[in-house]
Amino acid sequence: MEDMRSPRRVVIVGGGAGGLAAAVAAGRLGARVSILEKANRVGKKLLKTGNGRCNLSNRNISPEGYNCPEFVATLLSRIGPRELLEWFAELGLWPCEDEEGRVYPRSDTASSVLDVLRLGCADVEAEEICSTEVTAILPRSEGGFRLLTRESGEFTADRVIVSAGGGTALLRPLGHRYVPFTPALCPLKTDTDPIRGLSGLRVKCAARLTRGGEEIAAEQGELLFRDHGVSGIMALDLSRVARPGDRLSLDLLPEADLHSLRTWIRSRRGLVNEEREVLTGLFHRRVGEALLRRAGGDGEKLCELIKDFPLTVEGLADTANAQVTRGGAELSAFDPLTLESRLIPGLYCVGEALDVDGRCGGFNLHWAFASGMAAGRSAAR
Ligand SMILES: Cc1cc2nc3c(=O)[nH]c(=O)nc-3n(C[C@H](O)[C@H](O)[C@H](O)COP(=O)(O)OP(=O)(O)OC[C@H]3O[C@@H](n4cnc5c(N)ncnc54)[C@H](O)[C@@H]3O)c2cc1C
Repeated sequence: MEDMRSPRRVVIVGGGAGGLAAAVAAGRLGARVSILEKANRVGKKLLKTGNGRCNLSNRNISPEGYNCPEFVATLLSRIGPRELLEWFAELGLWPCEDEEGRVYPRSDTASSVLDVLRLGCADVEAEEICSTEVTAILPRSEGGFRLLTRESGEFTADRVIVSAGGGTALLRPLGHRYVPFTPALCPLKTDTDPIRGLSGLRVKCAARLTRGGEEIAAEQGELLFRDHGVSGIMALDLSRVARPGDRLSLDLLPEADLHSLRTWIRSRRGLVNEEREVLTGLFHRRVGEALLRRAGGDGEKLCELIKDFPLTVEGLADTANAQVTRGGAELSAFDPLTLESRLIPGLYCVGEALDVDGRCGGFNLHWAFASGMAAGRSAAR
């Protein structure tokens, strides 16, 4: 039987989305929880998410939205969107869904999400120790752990949950292997001549990414042209798999097939006096100009370009502002339901610190919260 007079001491490394969810979950089961956070406040990144609105989950969360469907499937079947939103509702958050299934707080303000998490932490008396960077986690021979910090000395714990986000390989000295961290969910750099003059324009289109003629990924939605290439949710999602040299093919009119498009273009060419007016009324003027420039007066080529406007991927852009990092602690060494290390019992790893990354639209925060909750519950038991 659990000794209620001396509940487990759970120390959480990192007070981001995963760490705060873990703190509430562990505290609710009676654990004495401390969060060690290297920044001067917890949840700083959370405030920037979703352009300050925090897209915390998505009705369409599914394992296929992640790089490792088999690993995340079991946990997501237990803590899916419904369970996560019920949990948040208990904390006082009123979640709202947009037409694409993305979930935001009703207030449209990320601080509401952080506020309810911090209220939940206060409720279970979880302590926040900020401006404290953990530099090492050392298992003790008598059980439990010592945590060394740069600023605040040493801490001891029965259980440790590492939720330090991407980029920090804190578990490597303990024998855990890491998949190298790389930026993901950022714009794509492409050849710029074909998109000259389009920067700042948004188009609804379908996109296919191919490598050596083989399809790697396909997306449909809205694309934003930039000076250096393409951005927007579609481009960000494609950036998870894109590599330099890949071919990005845009279908600028996915609702029409080539046959009906040919008929339309043929009739327009017969009706307008000048070739430059052929696409007037179909596309934004600047998109029309880019298409006509590339087609060079050839009607058939124009149709083909509308259905297959090719760009060459040159790399990722704006990586300093990437929304997630790919890579992290290798998954085979963790229990997919509790996120406990198979190498060191009592040690957990959650959120982006693991080699898990997901699509845009709430998938990454959902994973951070769900994995934090699961680890917190297990660590407290
Ligand atoms: C601009 C931006 C917008 C985003 N928008 C969305 C969105 O709308 N929806 C979505 O699903 N995802 C979004 N993401 C991704 C999402 O924020 C992350 O996937 C999520 O925050 C990961 O949570 P985490 O707890 O694993 O890591 P983090 O939130 O990164 O938290 C890790 C914490 O650990 C601390 N830390 C690190 N090392 C140490 C250490 N050694 N000792 C102590 N503390 C340490 C850090 O300071 C940090 O506070 C966005 C990301 C960015 C950058």
